[in-house]
Amino acid sequence: MIGDRDVTVFYDERVLLHRPEAQEPFLPGRMNSRVQHILQGLGMEAKWSYPEHPGRVTAINELLHAEPVPGVRFEGGRPATMEQLQRVHTTSYLESLQHLKGKQAWLDVDTTAVSAGSLEAAEVAAGSVVAAVDAVFDKRTGSAFVVSRPPGHHANAVRARGFCLVNNIAVGAAHAQAHWDAERILIVDWDAHHGNGTQDIFAADPSVLFFDTHRAAPFYPGTGQMDNVGEGLGEGTTVNVPLPGEAGDRAIVRAFEDILVPAADWFKPDLVMVSAGMDAHINEMCLTMTFDGFSKLTGIVQALADTYCDGRLVMALEGGYNPDTLARCTRTTLEVMAGGAPSPLNEPGVDEVAKIAEFHRSAFADME
Ligand SMILES: [Zn+2]
Repeated sequence: MIGDRDVTVFYDERVLLHRPEAQEPFLPGRMNSRVQHILQGLGMEAKWSYPEHPGRVTAINELLHAEPVPGVRFEGGRPATMEQLQRVHTTSYLESLQHLKGKQAWLDVDTTAVSAGSLEAAEVAAGSVVAAVDAVFDKRTGSAFVVSRPPGHHANAVRARGFCLVNNIAVGAAHAQAHWDAERILIVDWDAHHGNGTQDIFAADPSVLFFDTHRAAPFYPGTGQMDNVGEGLGEGTTVNVPLPGEAGDRAIVRAFEDILVPAADWFKPDLVMVSAGMDAHINEMCLTMTFDGFSKLTGIVQALADTYCDGRLVMALEGGYNPDTLARCTRTTLEVMAGGAPSPLNEPGVDEVAKIAEFHRSAFADME
């Protein structure tokens, strides 16, 4: 029943300080003039707004307060320390980010920009995942969901990409290993985009099993082919499931049941983490999942955590750009983490047809 299990949502308003604007100038030496030229040619110069905006997480926070989930409590976050960030990012990359404090600029042509408070937001986003890991290991909570931004799974050891500055889930996983002696970490990435940054960071690390369902290349970021299975000692602990854009609940649940579950049975994780992007929902136009699908996926990862690691499950928000859908997906996920039964899968529209058939049935019955 919902409320049987305790879940902590980590939410810290400092993540709202990241407010990049589409009109910001590029850093010197970047492809500013070329991109501006292309945008002008498309007539898009002033129309495009930065989709990874603070309204994403405020929408989640508002829904969770308007419609509370029994068993869910809230806690603030904290900034990650340099030591925690250095476990997955190079010192030179972190120093280059520090130089951006207080500045506004584009870092990369592929969508990553910063505002004056972005670094603080990124440090709090990563530090909140660290706090969530601490909370499940010291048993203050059964599981945890970190509602934060900027997202992290496209950032690798040396580069910001795809709205991401710091790889939050990777920082949390490395902390679980360094601070809590967790030997094996399972990272599940169900965001519609491939978690290329997380894959890069742990490609050669056999102690992290990375499982990723995503829309196949050439969809952004274009990585995550089936035969990318890891490198060196980590060969075999990267599992990619690239999917067509039409794929929805049934395909993705099947990938979890037929690929993730046996892989986790073999790996026996000490902690289950999820890069919980909600942009696989049909309203986001990347894949075609429904709320029921997210409910079902949550049930599968929670069951793995229950079997292998005393229920320890930490989810961190990644993508999802339609605030209403994002909030509803997050709430659906939390219901299952809090002990609710996963929804049965329905083909979209089947329930509606059943109700409509009931409505029409009497009309034809009268004609008998
Ligand atoms: Zn995404």
